[in-house]
Parts: sequence; structure tokens; C-alpha cells
Amino acid sequence: MSAVLEARGLEVHFPVHGGLLRRPRGTVRAVDGVDLSIPAGGTLSLVGESGCGKTTTGRALVRLVDPTGGAVLYTPPGEEQALDLAPMTQAQVRPHRRSLQIIFQDPYASLNPRMRVGRAVRERLDVFGVGSPEERDQRVAAVLERVGLSADAARRFPNAFSGGQRQRIAIARAIVCEPSVVVCDEPLSALDVSVQARVLSLLAELQQEHGVGYLFISHDLSVVRHLGGSVAVMYLGRIVETGPTAEVFESPAHPYTQALLSAVPVPDPKRRRTRIILDGDVPSPADPPTGCAFHTRCPVVEARCRTDLPALEPRSAGHPTACHLA
Ligand code: SF4
Repeated sequence: MSAVLEARGLEVHFPVHGGLLRRPRGTVRAVDGVDLSIPAGGTLSLVGESGCGKTTTGRALVRLVDPTGGAVLYTPPGEEQALDLAPMTQAQVRPHRRSLQIIFQDPYASLNPRMRVGRAVRERLDVFGVGSPEERDQRVAAVLERVGLSADAARRFPNAFSGGQRQRIAIARAIVCEPSVVVCDEPLSALDVSVQARVLSLLAELQQEHGVGYLFISHDLSVVRHLGGSVAVMYLGRIVETGPTAEVFESPAHPYTQALLSAVPVPDPKRRRTRIILDGDVPSPADPPTGCAFHTRCPVVEARCRTDLPALEPRSAGHPTACHLA
């Protein structure tokens, strides 16, 4: 599958200011040289603990956050040449916004409580000047029906809906412009398990129908396994392992991936996994450890790990892994 959106050496660094005069005191390296590729019509899952830079990566890819380095290569529909969105101004990115959408984690916070659902969904069609006013109304009615909401949903306010229904509204708003890519930022984490399954199958159906590429940000590895496609594991602003989801789940090569997966139940009752408990929290991205950033928590750390940064490259497991021992 060709890529619709790619990050190459993507960096998002934030300055830290302190003291009375708010002088620069350092830099938070939230995203620090990330390479990843979202296939057209396919899914790339991005996993890792809280604070590892997943959300900032997703937002930088759709230019809700400005990258400070690297490239964001977007291939518009029907074109072969990719555009680098990273150095563009917001005005230059604007014509491509219709194709680059995002679904946020919290459906209670992402919808304006004072805006009727129909207007919230139609807003993007108005902003991008899609079709005539009548066509926009028809499109809103069709997309609300497609995500499983009743015909009168357009006239109601968000507080009349449950969490699962609100996330369906958020999905309707994201797909109404027929985007090429949707960044799904933990779209299930605020929902009950039974509702999660229904929202997940809706996303899969919409991908089949519209050929949209997903970047699926999640900390729930059971969901990621169910999604298939490819996966990238992130730790402290960098990708530490990536490859086809089935392959990475079957033979994780990085100790961090092994620890994350050790907590996921195995579907085969004859197989057992030993749970690997990691000590401590993710270090601060304002003061990352030298060498391999995982060395402060790694159960198999060696002396060279404290000084040498391992490159992300194919090793014995066959897929790219950033570990000296993989
Ligand atoms: Fe652990 Fe060293 Fe591999 Fe980093 S490079 S994951 S510290 S073994």
C-alpha cells in the first residue's frame, strides 16, 4: 500500500521558560525524530504509555501543532507527488485541511454544547465550501444516518446523547468531507467496552467504504491487535519498534514492546505470558536519558546502552527495532 501521509525525522520541541523574567531554561523534546507511514486506505496504530509523544505526533501530522523539524509528506488524492506540509504556513495548509481530519479522545469536550449536531457536522462543509447549501444538508443527513443516528439527531444538542453517540457524531464530523486521513486519538478510551466494539466496527466499515487511512493512537493493545495493519511503538518521543501488527505481536523484539505486550491477554488458553513489570515512570522529555532512552527501565540493559543511541533498523526479528540486543 502506498503512503498517504508520512513523517520523516519529525520533531516537535517546546521551549521551557522559567524564573521571574521567563528566560529560556531548556527544551521539551516531545517528538524527537519520528519516521512513520500511514498507508492509503490502511491503518497504522501508534502505541506507548501516556506522555510518550503519541498525541503530539498525531497533531503535528495534521498540522494542529507546528513541527520544529523534519518533514510531513502528504500525497493528495489522484496525485503522485507528495507535498511537505511541515514548512507550510497555516494559510498554505488550509486547502488540504479537508483531507486531514482528527477524532479526539473525549467526545464530551470535542463538541460545542451550544451548537446543534446538524450544524456541528455541517460546519466543515461550510468552511470548505463543499456543494450547494441543499447538498450540504443532504450530506449531513446521510452521514448521520450512516453512523447510526436517527433523522432528528441534527436538530438536537450534544447533551441529548450518550458518550457512544457523541463519538459517532465526532466520527460523522470527521468523515463528512471525505478525508484521505483521519487521526483517531484514543477514540475509544472514554467509552464503555460494549460501545467500544460498535464504534470500532463503524470505523472499519467506513474505511472499507471510503478508503480512508487511519493513524490509530491507543494505549489499548487488545484493540490494536484487533485492528491489524501495522503498528509503531513509541517511547519518549521516538519510535522503538515498528512492523506488521501480527508480526510485532507474535515476536516483539524491543524490551519495551515485550513489557507492554506481556500485559495483554493471549487469546490461546494453552499459551501463557510472563508479566514484565517496568520500574518507574517514563523519564521527562525535558531531560531525556543519554544513549538508549529506555536504559533507565530496561531489564536487560548493558553498559553501551547508556552511551550509544540504537538506530531503528531491521534486526533479527525482521522488522525495524531500536535496540542493541534485538
Ligand atoms: Fe534495553 Fe539496551 Fe536495548 Fe535499550 S538498547 S532497549 S537499554 S537492551
